[in-house]
Amino acid sequence: MYKYDPKSLKAEEFINDEEIQATLAYADENKDNLELVDQILEKAKLRKGLSHREASVLLACEDEKKNAEIYDLAEQIKKDFYGTRIVMFAPLYLSNYCVNGCLYCPYHAINKTIPRKKLTQEEVRQEVIALQDMGHKRLAIESGEDPINNPIEYILECIKTIYSVKHKNGAIRRVNVNIAATTVENYRKLKEAGIGTYILFQETYHKDSYEVLHPTGPKHNYAYHTEAMDRAMEGGIDDVGIGVLFGLDKYRYEFAGLLMHAEHLEAVHGVGPHTISVPRVKKADDIDPTAFDNSLSDEMFCKIAACIRIAVPYTGMIISTRETPEVREKIIRLGVSQISGGSRTSVGGYTEEERPHDTEQFDVSDHRTLDEVVNWLMRAGYIPSFCTACYREGRVGDRFMSLCKSGQIQNCCHPNALMTLKEYLVDYASEDTRKIGEALIEKEIENIGKDSIKEVVRKELKKIEGGKRDIYF
Ligand code: SAM
Repeated sequence: MYKYDPKSLKAEEFINDEEIQATLAYADENKDNLELVDQILEKAKLRKGLSHREASVLLACEDEKKNAEIYDLAEQIKKDFYGTRIVMFAPLYLSNYCVNGCLYCPYHAINKTIPRKKLTQEEVRQEVIALQDMGHKRLAIESGEDPINNPIEYILECIKTIYSVKHKNGAIRRVNVNIAATTVENYRKLKEAGIGTYILFQETYHKDSYEVLHPTGPKHNYAYHTEAMDRAMEGGIDDVGIGVLFGLDKYRYEFAGLLMHAEHLEAVHGVGPHTISVPRVKKADDIDPTAFDNSLSDEMFCKIAACIRIAVPYTGMIISTRETPEVREKIIRLGVSQISGGSRTSVGGYTEEERPHDTEQFDVSDHRTLDEVVNWLMRAGYIPSFCTACYREGRVGDRFMSLCKSGQIQNCCHPNALMTLKEYLVDYASEDTRKIGEALIEKEIENIGKDSIKEVVRKELKKIEGGKRDIYF
């Protein structure tokens, strides 16, 4: 039997099944205990986060009035830490060759009908040019796991190619990486290649389900997968992004597991995850999402986001185009800080006129172009940001977190968001988007506290109009 220990480096001890079961029982016992719910909400208002047990009580609470308070607090915490900024990114699929047997993913080796494709370096260049022409500055690269077709050397070569492409005023300034769990040595190589965040979804924290859902291939090894972030940090990677594929197992179990993972990283490395992603299983080539009977309502999905926002206020939250514009709108308000836009989830998808489906990893539910997403965000009162300054200025890992906790990060983020939005408006936006954006920037300059900073920002914005690019604090 394993004993719960957040400081342990053993998967079954820091994600401890017995502790999760006890947490769920505690949440059930206390979900109607409004006095305790109030105490937890009071603690949450201090904006220092909640434990997995406390947050699980909030998630289980069914009292309408208390739930309204949970949503209001999540919205307020989001505003305090992230303002109205939403960071934009796009996934870039490099290869769908894969040796794993993940039952929910069409790239699994069992799928003998999906066309297999791996981008050449010239194709990577063409994809990056297409992404730069949309206005993207930040990518998340995605690949199946295949040591022969997609070894680490291939991934490293792709990263180098991506950073090297300079097309018109375009540039990819941050490459985040979402590839299978690997060794400390490989994480060190990724760090040296200048990656931003290393992202790896746990898929499910429930060990037995995990083993059933990953019947074959290296990903079958639960401990190796669950301990990946510790190896990544040992390899020098400062920012890691965790996530669960909601729908595979019971959402309450996953929610507790996610927070325990965050607590573990904080306890061992002194810094929690940089981001948390909340994908849900979607229809794909040979995948029917109803085959997994743990799907959750949009309402509960939004509540999970609100509870994550309250439990880990300093951790960014990501929502992809797996979700519809309607769900994205709701969930952004409750705590999401990063979204993808104009995404294509197939290998080589950005260079095709029409969105191709043949090598797609999942069916996207938000089909809008990046310009339409940017336009929509601004109309809803958000500032789309293409900023990549923090990691380029060394504001990563614990340094980023301490700036975030002291509230000082706002002084950089707000001006940087406005300057990168300005670049987007000048270089890529449609006329309507540009008009809305210029008015938004004018209004938002007024929200900068210090007059001296206002002046600097105005000057820098003029320089961008004059052709200068990549100005940041
Ligand atoms: N192959 C890498 C690995 O093993 O972690 C990660 C890259 S994979 C392209 C990115 C993520 O897509 C997976 O971790 C999984 O959570 C998600 N995914 C796979 N199949 C999906 C589906 N049918 N619907 C939604 N998301 C899916």
